Amino acid sequence: MGTSESPARWDHEYDVVVVGSGAGGMTAALCAKAQGLSVLLIEKANCYGGTSAVSGGGIWIPNNDQIAELGLQDSFEEALGYMKLLTQGEVPESRIVSYLKNAPVTVRYLADKFGISLNAVKKYPDYYPDKPGGKDGGRSMEPGPFDASQLGGELDRLRHPYPGTLVMGRVSMTQLEAHTFLCKAPGWIALTFKLMWKYCTDFGCRRRTRRDRRLTLGQALIGSMRHAMMKSDIPLWLETGLESLVEEGGRVTGLVASKNGMHLRIGARKGVILATGGFESNQQMREQYLPGPTNASWSAAPGCNHGDGIRAGRALGAQLGFMNLTWGTPTIVIPGAANAAGIFMERQLPGCVMVNGQGKRFVNEAAPYIEIIYAMYADHAKSGSAVPCWLVFDGRFRKNYPMGPMLPGNIQPDSKLPKAWADTVYYMAPTLAELARKLGVNAGGLEATVAKMNEFARSGVDPEFGKGNNSFDRYYGDPTVKPNPCLAPIDKGPYYAVRLDAGEIGTKGGLVTDEQARVLREDGSSIAGLYAIGNCSAAVMGRTYAGAGGTLGPAMTFGYLAALDAAGAAKARVSSLATGRAAA
Ligand code: FAD
Repeated sequence: MGTSESPARWDHEYDVVVVGSGAGGMTAALCAKAQGLSVLLIEKANCYGGTSAVSGGGIWIPNNDQIAELGLQDSFEEALGYMKLLTQGEVPESRIVSYLKNAPVTVRYLADKFGISLNAVKKYPDYYPDKPGGKDGGRSMEPGPFDASQLGGELDRLRHPYPGTLVMGRVSMTQLEAHTFLCKAPGWIALTFKLMWKYCTDFGCRRRTRRDRRLTLGQALIGSMRHAMMKSDIPLWLETGLESLVEEGGRVTGLVASKNGMHLRIGARKGVILATGGFESNQQMREQYLPGPTNASWSAAPGCNHGDGIRAGRALGAQLGFMNLTWGTPTIVIPGAANAAGIFMERQLPGCVMVNGQGKRFVNEAAPYIEIIYAMYADHAKSGSAVPCWLVFDGRFRKNYPMGPMLPGNIQPDSKLPKAWADTVYYMAPTLAELARKLGVNAGGLEATVAKMNEFARSGVDPEFGKGNNSFDRYYGDPTVKPNPCLAPIDKGPYYAVRLDAGEIGTKGGLVTDEQARVLREDGSSIAGLYAIGNCSAAVMGRTYAGAGGTLGPAMTFGYLAALDAAGAAKARVSSLATGRAAA
């Protein structure tokens, strides 16, 4: 994946070549162009947007400009304290500072230069709100809805959203709307009808496509960025994959890409910005680096990232970091589906419990998803039966709440679920003991665990793992359930379970970079002309996940910084930060 050959000639030449069309790559391309550079973005897949396009679009921007308007308070110092605590000294402070200082600047820059709007979500708590510096809301931002008609034919090349992020598999919803539906907050029925009505009566669009014109979440983020790229005349070449980097005299001067079976040599006078995502779809790399057992089929990511950028940088002597880590989340594998379904918010709901093969609990079900994966592997090392584990719930839960691909039973009863899902996606039995036998779980253990959970539900206190103790746990709880919105008895048959695998939304290890996103060698020197951002770089979050948007926030911020550095504008930026102005 790397080469040191000198180019005989370039087939094409630009100032900057960005590799990978996720949110980080697009931010880098836009910012480089705004700095007056010529830019090319190449993308291996036949559609653009990568994992970013199917994501929730949450972007973690501490101390953002909207926090005060929401009546909330934040500061750089609090965010720094929080990040330092969570990253446990494993990430250089200079990188954390660079991220926190530049994240609000990046958002402002995208808004001012390209009209890309992000809205702070008032009530979305950090993932560790009760740690010093953690907040109960305001730091996670989401893209405003974007009208896809502005994309024209380019909508067809935007990676499709996951059906689970759409109402009835069709209609887009924002994070705030999704929260309203899940918690059945006042007005949720009217909102459903309003969105469905708008979708159905959008006759112009309906004649052409099933896709909702109103893009939200990651679709809105990527849609609005693609639109900005079109307006800025930035070429995007699909089906053009990075093969190797070209290095001359210790500097990366370009790359070799493959397009339609041809090798193209593309010069990059100011630098190559790698934004090729992680290695979650590369089984060989998973086995080499991640804790076992591990399987690419457990990933909730869309299957486009194979670690290409990481291997290309490594071939030039780049240092690797955090290669054993993922943005972990439990997932359900669905027969015939291209990717597994992430279980992000169902675990917080009342009336469910997570158990290992002994039928024992080992984690707070409502914990941030990354913690669930750490707990699964830690318990697996002791019990040998937590990868996979089981999420058990009762008939009341099934009726009222969604679970992975299954809508609540009162909308989608068992009879309407695909036949192939019985005993693959979900398991059902009239009693807990029979369910346990189906799962191969210790029946006595499961019954004892459920009996304990039922006591906790009555008292509202989970003395074992503290489910429902903080605002993050409760965010996706059911506010109508008292005294604890995350706890309800599991006592109404039939009983159900889903198998949870140790999946992820992407890997988080990769090329080690500095505070400008420059790729570093083993000896700490930077490889001139080479930048890495997003999941092909070692995460600024280290082993943690500070809040919703903790992957996209850094990817975009370091995309902005890489572009500025390539343009030689980094010095101007540092001095403008000191005077409180963004680099123009
Ligand atoms: P990607 O967005 O995956 O982009 C990488 C691109 O590089 C891809 O298009 C790929 O095809 C391309 N590529 C790969 N190899 C090559 C090559 N050799 N040549 C050219 N192109 C190449 N994160 C958040 O912060 N907030 C959220 O709300 C959120 N929600 C999520 C929900 C789901 C269901 C999932 C699956 C993920 C979610 N994430 C979220 C995670 C987030 O989407 C990813 O961490 C992020 O998109 C990674 O960005 P990236 O630019 O590194 O990679």
